[in-house]
Amino acid sequence: MNPVFADLPTTVFETMSRLAREHGAVNLGQGFPDDPGPDDIREAAARALIDGPNQYPPMMGLPALRQAVAAHYARHQGLALDPETEVMITSGATEALAGALLALIEPGDEVVLFAPMYDAYLPLVRRAGGVPRIVNLAPPSFRLDEAALAAAFSDRTKLVLLNNPLNPGATLLGRDDLATLARFCRAHDVIALCDEVWEHVVFDGARHVPLMGLPGMRERTVKIGSAGKIFSLTGWKVGFVTAEARLMRVLAKAHQFLTFTTPPNLQAAVALGLAKDQAWFEAMRAGYARSRDRLAAGLTERGFSVLPAAATWFLNIDIGALGLSDDVAFCEAMVARSGVAAIPVSAFYPDGAVRHLVRLCFAKADATLDEALDRMAGLARAPF
Ligand code: PMP
Ligand code: GLN
Repeated sequence: MNPVFADLPTTVFETMSRLAREHGAVNLGQGFPDDPGPDDIREAAARALIDGPNQYPPMMGLPALRQAVAAHYARHQGLALDPETEVMITSGATEALAGALLALIEPGDEVVLFAPMYDAYLPLVRRAGGVPRIVNLAPPSFRLDEAALAAAFSDRTKLVLLNNPLNPGATLLGRDDLATLARFCRAHDVIALCDEVWEHVVFDGARHVPLMGLPGMRERTVKIGSAGKIFSLTGWKVGFVTAEARLMRVLAKAHQFLTFTTPPNLQAAVALGLAKDQAWFEAMRAGYARSRDRLAAGLTERGFSVLPAAATWFLNIDIGALGLSDDVAFCEAMVARSGVAAIPVSAFYPDGAVRHLVRLCFAKADATLDEALDRMAGLARAPF
């Protein structure tokens, strides 16, 4: 068996959700909303399922969805993409990531990654034969550090994998940091693989800036998005990849032998969703910002130190402020004894460097958040 997978533990999200079920806990661990998702998008998917067609859609994705992705990114992010040659639909961002890493890396190529990192990245890079060069980002800002980039990038670097906005940091990089990264990519002729699944989930008037839009990056960036995050439909697994045609031709070769296609009814419904007006996106963001504020205020009142959350469905609490230094032990005790599931942030640092942060998902109904807060009352004063 291949040791990359044989030696891996089960993903922390699955593990914590299983513990949450076993203990009847409120699950603020794995990131999924209580909200069922927009009625019109779900109805469109249901209708398309009944009316069909339900046979293989085109390998690159339904033309209507590829056009919708190009129009969407033109409208929201100022990107000019050719839907015919520069947009591909995948079965979630995860397939897009796996396909891109398989397609772009040759064994021995160096890949720069930033921690905290989504847990799929490292095994996929390793399985593709990449040699990881990991740059740890420090909380609470998780900003890029020029000296660390200089140490990580070299002429052996093939690719850099960036997650922006950042899960679990709940931060988004601004133009300055992106410009610095772009400079390193240009200087070392590196491809940027940008996991931007959280691009729409940004708060307080902030705007996501795609690395692809920076000077000299259009031809060397592969940008990944996911309908699961935009429309609160995490089980749908409809992803989008955008890249210049020269790169896309190779990405498509990997996709055709991973999944080949994605369910046609879901693609048709996502095309409808991407055309929603600006007001819908603002309302979605405002709703999640309200939930963030509710959870943050409740935790602060109960004595927790809460890090700022500018993006994503997550906020972090600093258990170091309670004199604790083992996030895994804290999460295991909290799910079993308090009945609230969360995610230890050390799971996102391959060297386990950061162990004082715990991630909580606020994409929940008020009643769910309030129940979790009730269960956590008293915990900050007398932690396990
Ligand atoms: N990347 C990041 C940073 C994520 O947070 C997630 C899911 N939470 C994914 C990728 C996976 O997206 P999908 O479900 O579309 O595969
Ligand atoms: N990305 C989701 C999170 O961060 C979980 C995805 C998964 O469970 N694989 O919580």
